[in-house]
Amino acid sequence: MRTGNVPAALTIAGSDPSGGAGLQADLETFAAHGVHGCSAVTAVTSQNTVGITGSVVLGADLVGAQIEAIAADIPIRAVKTGMLGAAAVVEAVAAAIGQLDLPQVVVDPVMVSSSGTRLLDADGVQMLRAELLPRALVVTPNVPEAEVLSGVAISSPRDAQEAARRIQGLGCSAVIVTGGHAPGDEVVDLLFDGRTFHQCRTLRMAAPGGVHGTGCTFAAAVAANLALGCPLLDAAARAQAYVAGAIAHARAIGRGAALLDHFWRTSG
Ligand code: PLP
Repeated sequence: MRTGNVPAALTIAGSDPSGGAGLQADLETFAAHGVHGCSAVTAVTSQNTVGITGSVVLGADLVGAQIEAIAADIPIRAVKTGMLGAAAVVEAVAAAIGQLDLPQVVVDPVMVSSSGTRLLDADGVQMLRAELLPRALVVTPNVPEAEVLSGVAISSPRDAQEAARRIQGLGCSAVIVTGGHAPGDEVVDLLFDGRTFHQCRTLRMAAPGGVHGTGCTFAAAVAANLALGCPLLDAAARAQAYVAGAIAHARAIGRGAALLDHFWRTSG
């Protein structure tokens, strides 16, 4: 048996049976970074590349029990949360992270899918603001999510800064407002660490018909890089480059949105 120091990361997220987003995208992202992936399932959705047809959120106790079982056995170097589905699950996840003292928590504040389905209700968003964000190393909202979390309407870089400042004020160490939903030829991810604003920039990749799973993959890549020992700013820059490459290599696997190639660096 080989022993060694393969770092492990945990995703706490919903299942996307198409493999494009959710915990399946997270686990592929971890694997592509050489990080062992653990997963605690929060919800099972029925969806494909065209859209979401249904979902069932698991009981908060079962979600908490999965996290406890993993943490009792495997040293987790970073955590990523995705679709949590209900306020009770958000509360249980926040409690487990606190009690188990899980490190380097990346919160992707999933609220609505790009196909328009609501994945967390208003009570869940309130619980996320009150209980989960204070335990996060970094939260990675896109522009619409940053607007909801901050109450700031974002139509300029200055607005994005104000939103980031207010979200950081909710208690997380840092915020990355991702730029994929903002207009322009460049994507600018804005990181605020409580003192300084940093910008990570990359050319926007054309994605005719849309791609599915970019938000999940970005947050998972941040967590993977943190698990590998990168400081946050490096982790954010590397995650941006990884997602840009995965979009550039996206493939039309189903009839709807293209799916990212999580293994573009090695698949040639
Ligand atoms: N399904 C699950 C389980 C998700 O976690 C998410 C996003 O986090 C989505 C679907 C939506 O993905 P997208 O908005 O990229 O289509």
